Amino acid sequence: MKVAVFSAHSYDETFLQEANAPYGFELTFFKSHLAPETARLADGADAVCVFVNDDLGAETLHLLAQGGVRVVALRCAGFNNVDLATAERLGIRVVRVPAYSPHAVAEHAVALIMTLNRQTHRAYNRVREGNFRLAGLLGFDVYGLTVGVVGTGKIGQCFARIMHGFGCQVLASDPYPNEALNAYARYVPLETLWQQSDVISLHCPLTPQTHHLVNETAINQMKPGVMLINTSRGGLIDTAAVIEGLKHGQIGYLGLDVYEEEEHLFFEDLSGQVIHDDLFSRLLTFPHVLITGHQAFFTRTALENIAQTTLNNLSCVLADRPCPNQVLPPPGSVGCVIS
Ligand code: NAD
Repeated sequence: MKVAVFSAHSYDETFLQEANAPYGFELTFFKSHLAPETARLADGADAVCVFVNDDLGAETLHLLAQGGVRVVALRCAGFNNVDLATAERLGIRVVRVPAYSPHAVAEHAVALIMTLNRQTHRAYNRVREGNFRLAGLLGFDVYGLTVGVVGTGKIGQCFARIMHGFGCQVLASDPYPNEALNAYARYVPLETLWQQSDVISLHCPLTPQTHHLVNETAINQMKPGVMLINTSRGGLIDTAAVIEGLKHGQIGYLGLDVYEEEEHLFFEDLSGQVIHDDLFSRLLTFPHVLITGHQAFFTRTALENIAQTTLNNLSCVLADRPCPNQVLPPPGSVGCVIS
């Protein structure tokens, strides 16, 4: 069984090869993203194995189908980059890794909050340069703050529990509230969450309904100086609106692990190149903005789980067994991709 692995970094290769011992799949690793231009690399493979910024729109899927690919195995939970309706029409099954470590992502969101608050990244550099002054490092107690969690699925729940443990009042918004969370959080309408939270963390998926959920209207409802954290998907935030919010102090702190145009930037070393994305460059000029390059998932535990689940998914679908991690298009959909 041949699997073409796209967007493969050294760590993907290490963890997938280790997990492949019992399966014996023929894995071929490609550093390039999957896109129409690279889809032909998969000719002759039974499956492609892809990540968050690979392009699985209609054009790519048609090329994959022509080359004999029958399965798309996502090494991630989100599937907003796949045209599911087209995949179904072409008989390509799509599988994903719904949970590999919700703790990894929730803990990274907390790391962003604590770094922005206590400026540990600046303190690290200062002390190494022999500068022990404290001016500019003033933080605040997290204890007693109101923290809003948008989306209380696997990751949002972990995050809510951690923030409850800090002694915060946790507000939550989700169209499908989870009773188990009532001990840690209070569900409120989204508007109330925007209005009352000191810190807001996004944990819902990117869908046509949640695209630019954080826009000018939402930002204007937030508390002046709010801290906004996004470890979910870049498209949840209207970047231009957030820049305006930062300029006027309406947003006091911004912590991002994802960015709406990240596929042109993240996961590559661009340190010797000019960044052409002016909105991204503008974000980097603000003192209270901290951006990491989609690394929230990046723990050893998560990579082991991703590799094991991905190969198990492949063995299920390639043997035509039902796979609990298969993703189907919503009924009646004609194909819709948000990238
Ligand atoms: P999940 O499916 O378990 O939970 C998502 C929750 O969001 C669900 O409870 C759903 O009802 C809720 N939701 C849907 N629409 C909403 C809306 N309009 N408002 C509020 N809530 C809404 O997903 P998860 O495993 O918790 O992951 C959440 C997101 O985190 C994923 O969609 C993915 O985009 C992102 N993610 C990021 C990383 C990373 O490394 N940065 C890693 C994994 C996942």
